[in-house]
Amino acid sequence: MPYIDTHCHFSDGAFNSDRNEIIEAALSAGLEFFFEILCSPEDWQKDPLFSDYGKNFYFAYGIHPEYASKYKSEDLEKLKEKLKGERTLFIGETGLDYYWVNDNKQRQKELLLAQLSLSESLSLPCVFHCRNGKDADDNAYGDLLDLIEKNWNFNSTGKKRGILHSFSGSDIDAQRALELGLYLGINGTFTYPKNSQLREIVKKAGPENIVFETDCPYLPPQNFRGKRNDSSKIPQIAAEISAFCGFSFSAAENAVYNNSRSFIK
Ligand SMILES: [Zn+2]
Repeated sequence: MPYIDTHCHFSDGAFNSDRNEIIEAALSAGLEFFFEILCSPEDWQKDPLFSDYGKNFYFAYGIHPEYASKYKSEDLEKLKEKLKGERTLFIGETGLDYYWVNDNKQRQKELLLAQLSLSESLSLPCVFHCRNGKDADDNAYGDLLDLIEKNWNFNSTGKKRGILHSFSGSDIDAQRALELGLYLGINGTFTYPKNSQLREIVKKAGPENIVFETDCPYLPPQNFRGKRNDSSKIPQIAAEISAFCGFSFSAAENAVYNNSRSFIK
C-alpha cells in the first residue's frame, strides 16, 4: 500500500538546497501523495516549487494562528482566491496556539472564525493546528473544539470534515474531535518517550480515525531527533504505530490510506 503524508512543509527554506532529491527519495520510499501546507501569505506563492511533481502534490492554504496579530483583512481576500485552485484540498492550517503567545486569544479566534466561514462558503475541509499554553488556563483545545462545535456548519456529505493535525490533546479532546468529524493527524511525536498518553489515545481511536503525517521539516521520529524531518519517515512512523497499538499492519495501512485518500476528489 502506498503512503500519503497529510501534512508537510516542503516549501520551508530547510529544503532549499535539495528539495527535489528529498521528494524523489520519499517517492522511492513508497509515498504517493503529499499534502503541502502553505499557511502564510508569503507561503501561498510557493506552490510553483512543486510543479515537477504535479500529480503527487495537493495543497492547503490558510493563515496559521501565529500570524493572528500580523495578517491584514485583504489577506483573507487573497486567501479566498488561492483556495479556488484546482489542487486545493483544505483550508489550513488554521486554529489556536497559546504556547508562545497567549495575549491575543481574541485575534486568534477571529482569524479562525474567518477561515471556518471560508470553509463553508467554498465547501472545503479544514486542517486544524492546536497547542495548549503552559498554564492549565490556556486550554486551546477546549476553545478550538467549542468554536468548531458552535460555528462550523460545513457538511462533507458522509465524509470526515478535516484533520486535527499533530494531535497533542487529552483523551476527552480526542473523543470530541472524532465526534466533530475530524481525523487525528499522527506524526513522529508518537515515538517520543514522554508521549504515553498520545499512544493510548491512538490505540483507542484505531486506524479508522487517524491519518499519518510528518509536519516536516519539524518533529522527526525519536531516532532522528534534532535532524530535519521529511516524508520518507512515514513508513517507520506507520510501523511503530501498528506495533505499539497491536493493529494488523496491512489492515491499518489500508484504512489509514483510505482515510487520507478520501479528501482527494
Ligand atoms: Zn504544520
